[in-house]
Amino acid sequence: MIERMNSVKPPWYGDVAIDSPALKTPMMKQFIELKNKVPDALLLFRMGDFYELFLQDAVDAAEALELTLTSRNKKDPNPVPMAGIPYHALENYLTKLVEENFKIAIAEQEEDPEQKMMVRKITRLVTAGIPWDSDMVEADESCWLGALCGTGPFGLAFLDVSTGEFVMTQVKSLLEATAELLRMDVREIIIHNRLINEPICYPILKNRPNYPATASWFDERSAKHSLRQVLNVQDLNAFGINDQRWAIGAAGAVISYARDTAMVDLSHINRLNYYHLGSQMVMDESTRRNLEVVQPLRGTGKKGTLLGLLDKTCTAMGARLLRQWLISPLLDIEKIERRQQAVSDLLEMSRRRQLREYLRQVYDLERLSTKLAQKKINPRELRALSNSLQILPDIFSITADLSGFVDQQPRSLGQEIAEHIQQILVEEPPTSLTDGNIIAKGNSDELDELVLLSEEGITAIAKMEEEQRIATGITSLKIKYNRVFGYFLEVTNTHRDKAPKDWIRKQTLSNAERYITPELKEFEEKILGAGERRKAIEHAMYVELRTAVAEQIVVLQELAKRVAHIDCISCLAEVAVQYRYVRPSVDQSMNMYIKEARHPVIEQNMPSGEAFVPNDISFTNDRRLIMLTGPNMAGKSTIMRQVALIALLAQIGSYVPAKKAQIGLFDRIFVRVGASDDLTQGRSTFMVEMSETAFILHNATESSLILLDEIGRGTSTFDGLSIAWAVAEAVHDSITARCIFATHYHEMTVLTAQKQRIINLHVAISESKGDIVFLRTLQEGATGKSYGIQCAKLAGMPRNVIKRAKELLKDLERSDPTVQIDQMNLFDAILEPNEKKSEGFDEFMSMLDNLDPDTMTPRDALDALYSIKDFKRQHGL
Ligand code: ADP
Ligand code: MG
Repeated sequence: MIERMNSVKPPWYGDVAIDSPALKTPMMKQFIELKNKVPDALLLFRMGDFYELFLQDAVDAAEALELTLTSRNKKDPNPVPMAGIPYHALENYLTKLVEENFKIAIAEQEEDPEQKMMVRKITRLVTAGIPWDSDMVEADESCWLGALCGTGPFGLAFLDVSTGEFVMTQVKSLLEATAELLRMDVREIIIHNRLINEPICYPILKNRPNYPATASWFDERSAKHSLRQVLNVQDLNAFGINDQRWAIGAAGAVISYARDTAMVDLSHINRLNYYHLGSQMVMDESTRRNLEVVQPLRGTGKKGTLLGLLDKTCTAMGARLLRQWLISPLLDIEKIERRQQAVSDLLEMSRRRQLREYLRQVYDLERLSTKLAQKKINPRELRALSNSLQILPDIFSITADLSGFVDQQPRSLGQEIAEHIQQILVEEPPTSLTDGNIIAKGNSDELDELVLLSEEGITAIAKMEEEQRIATGITSLKIKYNRVFGYFLEVTNTHRDKAPKDWIRKQTLSNAERYITPELKEFEEKILGAGERRKAIEHAMYVELRTAVAEQIVVLQELAKRVAHIDCISCLAEVAVQYRYVRPSVDQSMNMYIKEARHPVIEQNMPSGEAFVPNDISFTNDRRLIMLTGPNMAGKSTIMRQVALIALLAQIGSYVPAKKAQIGLFDRIFVRVGASDDLTQGRSTFMVEMSETAFILHNATESSLILLDEIGRGTSTFDGLSIAWAVAEAVHDSITARCIFATHYHEMTVLTAQKQRIINLHVAISESKGDIVFLRTLQEGATGKSYGIQCAKLAGMPRNVIKRAKELLKDLERSDPTVQIDQMNLFDAILEPNEKKSEGFDEFMSMLDNLDPDTMTPRDALDALYSIKDFKRQHGL
């Protein structure tokens, strides 16, 4: 019986039986009732000054947070595990739990006057996508909660609770949808439960918390209803979002989850923007990873990434926007040129440095606005907000006359808000709302009077201390204060006899006596009474101020956006100067010409004494596929990546690392790296390589940039060569995109002979006495050899091994029939008859033609066979 019950009990009971008597107390019943509502979350159950966890939650949390695991009823043979965290340390613990992918429900307590007991209610759910507050998330990263639904088309919505940004879109395929979720790097995803088992969704669900929701979550009508409520509008036409059924469904789900499930205050959400993916350059996840745009290939953080290199923003808002720019390069020439113009305006302006000084003084207006709307902003932060607002006119006055900065804000915007705050708050207010010292003098007569009263009281006490010292002759007499008896006179034992008789003894310590007097209590009354009233008034006035300012939230958010934009432009200008970048020209052609291109990240990380070698690189209408050869380590991968990074930089409006650049825009960039270069663990790397290559062949267009780095390396030589060959042909013949194909299969360089738009380039080395020197220069034509052994030698391979390898290579080249025959066959299959260049070949063919087996004697035939073999040897065929 018990066993059967155990088998259906929810996992959160852990080892405790579902009918354990220990669970029958009123308190545990309350816990179980709440826990049933949030079975997938850790329930933090407030009891006094602690949040307690019970049952399996306690076991899990104790492990994750290194808490002591205890139990409520130690004598019980089947005790209830329990662990607790002090309420004031909640935020630290929440951060850790969220990092470990836990969802946390917080149940606060309140007194139920009828039942005369404490009852608890779940007041918040904290998850990776819905942080406790913005202090819990990185300042320079957005924190997107995403939703995905639909049957094709698919709807996507993204909400950053920390800033109030709220966007949505709709795409045709599930693949596009998941790519977009990866691009946005969502922290958590609400997904239609029907999609959860789609293999295409695995990459987004891996290592990321998700909430599988039923169809009703995405219902269009109720979505519209909650959107109208949250955005506080009568109809959604203003947002231009009436017919995107699935996008609306996803947006509605995000709202329900944040507002109803997680119980977050959404007062800071004021707009919902629809965006078209078609207006951005597309980079898939693997391309972004390979180019190390915002994440390094290995490790975490942004060190070694393009973002890490570029991020010279001065504000948190700017840093977040820059990241957004980098993952959404533009396709619109006008927009690109507007950013370029703004950068160039700043570069020509002498006050550029000063602008950055001003920007540095601006706090995170966006997240402060969120706190303001959610009534979580403290007096110190509100003052910081106003100080930041006051700097804005200086910032806007610098950018006002620059042609690159269109849609200017009126310079005065936000100033009334700032002045209002500054008039009411003291200059350095505390973080606490309830301890007074918040409101400046002159805002309320009553308050000023109370302050005066309590100050008078304090002076009176100081005066009394001095007077009593003289009157009693007790030089060490002190008037002190504690919470228990308020103000008192303290006399050390040495002077005890001198204490006047009419003092009332209150307490005896080992070394002193404490007294009070009616006069002292009178002063105390004045001070404390005034103090309490003062605090109450200040608190009320603060709340009033906060409410008034919160009404201006839309203005604040708008200002934050402008500042972020200016900050990003200023960052790009700084980058351009510091790294010596130039302004590229952009157009819609199929050309690309970069003079002295450099790899932005590698050039900044060169070992001291070494300089990065720039290279010219170009594509034209009839030069679309570059077959790039060169030994290992020559610099092939570097050249390819620098081309992609330069294109990417150009399309976010940045200057680029080169002497001169002209770039026909790319609609997509694809980068694929051969299996043995790709260090991602897990799946069969060759399969990954192949499926990713297939993806390119299906998705690239004529305007794409395709970079294939050692494709086909993950399998046997001839397999690999054949695949690489066929892919190159497909890219050239049917996609016609601009492409760099780096390969160590130098056999492929013969492709130029028959394909019009392929050209051979190689990264040059010089060779002397069997050693190679890397020149890092790009030259026309192909390399003939692999130089693998020379590389091995450079890498410090033992001398005898190198020697033996050379011998083996010679033997192989001379005599291995399979190598030569297979290679011949491959070329035969590919080369047109009139392109078979070897002179011996033609002779050989005519020799064969002249043989007539029908008229030959066996002896003739045998002779012919010998001469064929001889001929073959002589000509090295
Ligand atoms: P490959 O792909 O041909 O094997 P890589 O592109 O990986 O070679 O380059 C190997 C290393 O050579 C790089 O890590 C870098 O340190 C150096 N390197 C490459 N290109 C240059 C260059 N143009 N100037 C200076 N050093 C370079
Ligand atoms: Mg390489």
